[in-house]
Amino acid sequence: MQQLDLDIQERQQELSEVENQLSDDKAMVAAESRLASQKQQLEDARKEQKSAEWELEDLQEKIRQINSKLYGGKTRDPKELVNLEKEVKGLKVQTTTKEDTLLGLMSLVEEVEARAKTTVAELNNLKKEWEQRQETLRPRKSEIEVELAEFKGERERLAKRIESEAFNIYERIRLTRGQAVVKVERGRCLGCHITVPTSQWQKAKAGDLIQCNNCSRILYLE
Ligand SMILES: [Zn+2]
Repeated sequence: MQQLDLDIQERQQELSEVENQLSDDKAMVAAESRLASQKQQLEDARKEQKSAEWELEDLQEKIRQINSKLYGGKTRDPKELVNLEKEVKGLKVQTTTKEDTLLGLMSLVEEVEARAKTTVAELNNLKKEWEQRQETLRPRKSEIEVELAEFKGERERLAKRIESEAFNIYERIRLTRGQAVVKVERGRCLGCHITVPTSQWQKAKAGDLIQCNNCSRILYLE
């Protein structure tokens, strides 16, 4: 019974490990949320780039219009000509600034695009790994479940053959101590390593149900 319970415990541990591995999608979820925020960043940067391009076109159009007034020959008033020249100068300064902004945005877009591309590749790898893990671990999980069911069936059959008082003692110790039945080796209980009186272990050897005076575990000798 003790060996069976140890086997059951071991299988249950393995089963929960396998289940953990099967459901562990933390890396994938993290990569997905990283990709979502990169896409958002990209969208924002592209919008900014577009509006910078429009603003730049507006500035160039304004400069064209003023230049045609300046050099078209219609405006002859010197004062107005000076003002128009000043205006063109100001607009040209604005154009240079806008061009710098636009270049910055273009390289930002490229950078975020590259980062998003890396994340997509990472995500694909993670998905592949996930699928491989599912493929190998799912059959293992079923195997363990079958074994567990067999062990539990065996345990039920065995429990019926054990005297109920002894079984109750066994179950009680198992719940508090984990392992209920331990070996006596060189006169010591292997559960708590305290010396077992000779009379006690001799009875245990004879097949009586003897418990350790110190830890209450059921003792056996080979
Ligand atoms: Zn003991």
